[in-house]
Amino acid sequence: MKKLLFLITTFFFSNILYALELKGTFYQGNLIIGKVESKSTIFIDKKKIKISDQGFFAFGLNKERKNDVTIEEVKNGFSEKITKKVLKKKYQIQKIDGLPPKQVTPPKEVYERIKRDNKLITEARSIDSNLIFFSNKFEVPIKNSIITGVYGSQRILNGIPKSPHYGLDFAAKEGTKIKAMLDGVVTLSEKNLYYTGGTIIFDHGHGVSTLYMHMKDVYVKKGQKIKKRDVIGTVGKTGRATGAHLDIRLNWFDVKLDPASVLKLD
Ligand SMILES: [Zn+2]
Repeated sequence: MKKLLFLITTFFFSNILYALELKGTFYQGNLIIGKVESKSTIFIDKKKIKISDQGFFAFGLNKERKNDVTIEEVKNGFSEKITKKVLKKKYQIQKIDGLPPKQVTPPKEVYERIKRDNKLITEARSIDSNLIFFSNKFEVPIKNSIITGVYGSQRILNGIPKSPHYGLDFAAKEGTKIKAMLDGVVTLSEKNLYYTGGTIIFDHGHGVSTLYMHMKDVYVKKGQKIKKRDVIGTVGKTGRATGAHLDIRLNWFDVKLDPASVLKLD
């Protein structure tokens, strides 16, 4: 009887994957959250993906993603496949010519420090925990601020393209409180990394992580469990920052995603 019902459902919704919900729009740089009934297996682009006991899963679309995404659900021996088109995002390009040549490479003596910093960040982002905080709503981390930098923007200085900016920048007064966007576990808490200064990384489960940088004060410790809206530190200009601002990042493992894709900005 169950099987019959299933077949009927499939028949009526032949274009829709059986009991699959997806949250998030299929734009380049976006985080996609899915939910299925338990006991399903999900393959994203033919790669099996982790599903929580409650049926949640997550994946991200990288900045330059052009190919369609295939999502396959296998349940009770039945397989359903859908294809999603990835929509292009328009990124800001800023060309500045005629700049005097400037030394931008860091001095040799900090190479080791940068290498160590990068290793810490990479390790924190590679954590694959079973937490499912990612399935909840994110909240804007700061009040009374102005967005001064967006994901994907790139500067071309004297004809040389610089690496794109992957964060979302909020300019605010030094010392402004920063709140956690989502429940999470602290996987990195550092007061003085070379580029990012006071830095926190949170794990939200299934490879979804957020990073906060250039902070003046850092109030949390590695391993600590933090609730959404908890004050985690204050705005600063630590590391290589030109002025006081908060720069936040969103990742799915090493895939750099657009933080604005999970926030309601006004
Ligand atoms: Zn930034």
